[in-house]
Amino acid sequence: LKRGLIQIYTGDGKGKTTAAFGIALRAAGRGLRVQIYQFLKGGSPPSGEVLALDNCGLPIRWRRFDDQIPPMFRKGGGGEEELRRSLRKALEEVREGVLGGQTDLVILDEINVALAQGWLPVESVLEFLQECPEGVEVVLTGRGAPECLLERAHLVTEMRCIKHPFDQGVPARRGIEF
Ligand code: ATP
Ligand code: MG
Repeated sequence: LKRGLIQIYTGDGKGKTTAAFGIALRAAGRGLRVQIYQFLKGGSPPSGEVLALDNCGLPIRWRRFDDQIPPMFRKGGGGEEELRRSLRKALEEVREGVLGGQTDLVILDEINVALAQGWLPVESVLEFLQECPEGVEVVLTGRGAPECLLERAHLVTEMRCIKHPFDQGVPARRGIEF
């Protein structure tokens, strides 16, 4: 890419992660190199979208930080300090992955949630964005993206929940929700 931009998918409606994987697919189809990092998904088995990547032979590298379990999903809660440490380390890994390799598109899935919860300082992400090479497009997903990040972005889409089957008692479905 000549000039990479910053995109944010936020809001409480469904579609943030699937939109990010959609753009990854499109980019890869055009020969762009993609890196996907999934934050805060620990404690659950990998979702269908990353399983598909392993089977497709596309130039998409993915990494899921399996130890990052949000305290509310943790038996007995706690572990917030550990989570903060893991998030800091993860962002460092992203930095190395992006600065070290040739990349066109980087997806930071659910990172907004870590910022909204105060588990990761927003300054550290702004710094990373500052350091990113000119040609790298960055997509940040997750509910509650902080205001200063929205200001920094070139594209912001809010997925707004009008209806979700979850509210009608339909549990998450394999292959559709995960
Ligand atoms: P998806 O991964 O389906 O694109 P998402 O990334 O926009 O959804 P998240 O906020 O990451 O949504 O939500 C995590 C899980 O909760 C996903 O499995 C998603 O399908 C589901 N979900 C999304 N929106 C809602 C909602 N409004 N009510 C209940 N569950 C939701
Ligand atoms: Mg998501």
